[in-house]
Amino acid sequence: MASKEAIQVIEPATEQVMAELPRAGAEETDAAIDKAKVAFADWRAVAPADRSALLHRLTDAIEGRSDDLATLEARNAGKPIADARGEVGMVVETFRYYAGAPERLTGKTIPVSGGVDMTFREPLGVVGLITPWNFPLTIASWKVAPALAAGNTIVLKPAELTPLTAIELEKIAVEAGLPEGVLNVVPGPGSVCGRRLVEHPDVAKVAFTGSTEVGRGIAEGAAGTIKRVTLELGGKSANVIFADADLEAAASSAPMAVFGNAGQDCCARSRILVERAAMDDFMSALEGAVKSIKVGDPLSESTQMGPLISADQLHTVSSYVNGDAPVAFRGSAPDGPGYWFPPTVLAPVSNDERPAREEIFGPVACVIPFDEEAEAIRIANDTIYGLSGSVWTGDGARALRVARAIETGVISINSNTSVRVATPFGGFKQSGVGRELGPDALEAYTEIKNVYYATEG
Ligand code: NDP
Repeated sequence: MASKEAIQVIEPATEQVMAELPRAGAEETDAAIDKAKVAFADWRAVAPADRSALLHRLTDAIEGRSDDLATLEARNAGKPIADARGEVGMVVETFRYYAGAPERLTGKTIPVSGGVDMTFREPLGVVGLITPWNFPLTIASWKVAPALAAGNTIVLKPAELTPLTAIELEKIAVEAGLPEGVLNVVPGPGSVCGRRLVEHPDVAKVAFTGSTEVGRGIAEGAAGTIKRVTLELGGKSANVIFADADLEAAASSAPMAVFGNAGQDCCARSRILVERAAMDDFMSALEGAVKSIKVGDPLSESTQMGPLISADQLHTVSSYVNGDAPVAFRGSAPDGPGYWFPPTVLAPVSNDERPAREEIFGPVACVIPFDEEAEAIRIANDTIYGLSGSVWTGDGARALRVARAIETGVISINSNTSVRVATPFGGFKQSGVGRELGPDALEAYTEIKNVYYATEG
């Protein structure tokens, strides 16, 4: 069932169509899987040093196109150009990190009787990568780079809202000398192309980033063919601020930890837990920081926050800030066309209320007061999610105690950073399964093979 209608790609800051492209359907997805399957035999056989050299060439080619890619991403995803440049920088760093990996994909020798036992890390085959619209090229790179380095071939399905940089990546890969069929991009709907990747018997693994709801369906669908899955899903992360913290630093850093990318970030620290003794000081510092956020044209150098991705997202986010929501203060947002929503702080909020329980995926923060350490930990863990988070305190022992007690895949102390190319990223609980980035991602694109070689009669 091929769908020949066009995808109209909308620029969220203007609501104008910025590109039209053919929409892939099940037929195009099957054809891409077939191409990837044919390409796999040769790609896995490329000598490690040669695969590494090709990936370095691809990295250089992406770096050479950094400015175009950043502008395309800023326009299509509505993100500030400075952020988009930073993200393309991370894409380059990710490809460079994994370009060195083919020659380091080592196995083990294991002492056994009667012979020699050794393990190999074999590629899986064709992998299906399904990516979201919030960090389109960055999240694609977290999957594409380790998958290629490990010797797999790829069918990548970008979100229909933001397919443009993935399509460019496919072109750049071919120009850089990646063999035909190794990286295939199918821009089409998740319910058709994504689903096909999940169900197709020739796809060995699906790596997905997106909503927990769709992730559940992927886990279910993957069971039919016992596919490997990596799921990077939603979050409702806690930013825990104790009264003995550097409150100025915590308050000046808290806004972009939730309003960055207009809040459309699975790592958004959208529950700000503040020790009651520090509440007044923290809130007055936070108000100044929130009101100074520059919201506007993504292509302007001074913009810190752009619009939401779509009219649907604007509608969903608005539903959390209705008539009786406890709005403490808000920043500004432009009028006119574009899916604008001002940075908004709700306070005080109980952790039982809807804005504190659901992933809003927009620039809405909930401030939740607490009285003591145990209560902060209990509130932080009272969620189905466990992706990211922060602890701010001047007490080192407490910092480590609380960081260990919070059920989350990634946590920072006196910092709101979440992601580094060389370190593992992923969630506890319903925030996902598996890890991306760092050494772990590479292993997740391989299968261990054990070989025993008899050496005695
Ligand atoms: P989705 O989870 O629907 O989309 C993510 C990707 O999955 C897209 O490429 C989408 O395709 C694809 N997809 C959708 N349905 C299926 C399916 N049945 N089988 C396989 N693939 C599928 O996220 P939304 O865009 O709907 O956003 C909704 C909410 O999800 C957000 O408000 C946010 O809460 C959360 N989200 C979380 C993200 C994260 O980083 N963890 C990223 C994006 C969203 P397409 O959209 O092209 O149809």
